[in-house]
Amino acid sequence: MANYIKHLILSLIVSNLVIANSYALDPNAMTEREEYIAGNAYHVLMHEMGHLVIDQLRLAILGQEEDAADNFATIALIDEDTEFADNALANTAHFWFVLSDSQSSDASTYFAEHDLDIQRAYRIVCHLVGVDAEAFDYLAKAAELAEDNYDTCGANFEQTADSWFSTLDAHKPEPGFENQVELIYQEPEPQFETALSILRESLIVEDAIAFINTYVALPNVITFRAASCGEANAFYDSSDISITMCYELINLYAEIFDET
Ligand SMILES: [Zn+2]
Repeated sequence: MANYIKHLILSLIVSNLVIANSYALDPNAMTEREEYIAGNAYHVLMHEMGHLVIDQLRLAILGQEEDAADNFATIALIDEDTEFADNALANTAHFWFVLSDSQSSDASTYFAEHDLDIQRAYRIVCHLVGVDAEAFDYLAKAAELAEDNYDTCGANFEQTADSWFSTLDAHKPEPGFENQVELIYQEPEPQFETALSILRESLIVEDAIAFINTYVALPNVITFRAASCGEANAFYDSSDISITMCYELINLYAEIFDET
């Protein structure tokens, strides 16, 4: 841990209102590659935020927690209702479709805490089609989702969104409330410099905090950390109420974009 702290370049207690956004990547000016990387990182960040909310608010989980966290991320991005957030969802589905090609089919895969990669991909597509079948028809067609499924997707999205938002209602903050968030960006090695700049300049962390501030009053200070972890991963740690986004995962998004 001491070695880790030595490499910190920024550690701040912030609210979303004091974060300067003058360096923000303009979604309209982002390259397709930057948008792919930032969009995937945004969804996984909100997925981990889902785990954090579940833990911090001691929410009951009826079903698998990983599904609930995926759904939290998807409804948060749909709620944002921007072109960037919509593309982030499409790009996340694409990422899971690509990974599904190489996922092994054995008992340990079926027994894992996550659903199959291809199920995670299809659930996002289904939720998008459920929200707006016309706007996301192109995505459904690309995923070969039959039009017969559209109504089911609509009902499924409605139930998922209603379940999450009604659960969060009990924890709704007073207007103007801001959760306390500590942001830690580990100084990147050269191969992770682009990852850090996309993470910071896309303002996805700030967007995630804005979502939380709108819907949830958390009982404790939370920490967001970007760091090199030795693996392509992102995770929530309940012991220090932190979300860690690994630079390796952001680089994996870049690799997948470049390869497909
Ligand atoms: Zn998870």
